[in-house]
Amino acid sequence: MGKGTQADLLSRELRACQLSTGDVFRAASKSHVELSPAMQAATVYMRSGALVPDETVWEMVRERVGCLRCGSGFILDGFPRTLGQAASLEQLMESERLPMDAVVSYELPARAVIARLSGRRTCKECRTAFHIVDRPAKVDGICDRCGGVLFQRDDDRAESIKVRLEAYAESTAPLIAFYEQRGLLVMVDAGGMADEICARTLAALNGRRAARTA
Ligand code: AMP
Repeated sequence: MGKGTQADLLSRELRACQLSTGDVFRAASKSHVELSPAMQAATVYMRSGALVPDETVWEMVRERVGCLRCGSGFILDGFPRTLGQAASLEQLMESERLPMDAVVSYELPARAVIARLSGRRTCKECRTAFHIVDRPAKVDGICDRCGGVLFQRDDDRAESIKVRLEAYAESTAPLIAFYEQRGLLVMVDAGGMADEICARTLAALNGRRAARTA
């Protein structure tokens, strides 16, 4: 459904290691362990739909840098989201001599993004995403996969969606030009069902690989 679902499907398909920065912040917000002041602040930003400050995100990614050294490759979901994060990542990858194959940008009109996010319901246990119209659960409010309770994420509420779209336009959209200049950008139409989008993504990545090795 969203980019997180695509990251899950792709990491399974490619057997790659996956780091989803949003998942780390969501897990922190549910954790019973005492959080650092920066992580506490991060969970407040996240619930409102705003971006977490670069320093906090970067510290968290650095702690998980082993993920980028995974032999079968890695997928970063939701990172980088600002030019500052992209510059830090580029520096790190250069210094560690790690290659980056591609950066996927999922394209969807704002109206469709709003319909998709506001109708999303997520399983509390296994994180599977449903949609009240496009992918309803067989039993209302209960996950088909594990029987967990479905809920609406704080950042999928109308007021947070507005903040997320503004943050995207202001901070994340400039990454399109950044990665286009580096020849890494792959644009994928995010319309349709999750498996269709995943097939489209794999085709785009394979097409790109074939063109580069030809
Ligand atoms: P996501 O699940 O990727 O949509 O992320 C959920 C929320 O976590 C975002 O709306 C932000 O508040 C925060 N977040 C995740 N990744 C980043 C990032 N790279 N930079 C800043 N904030 C982030």
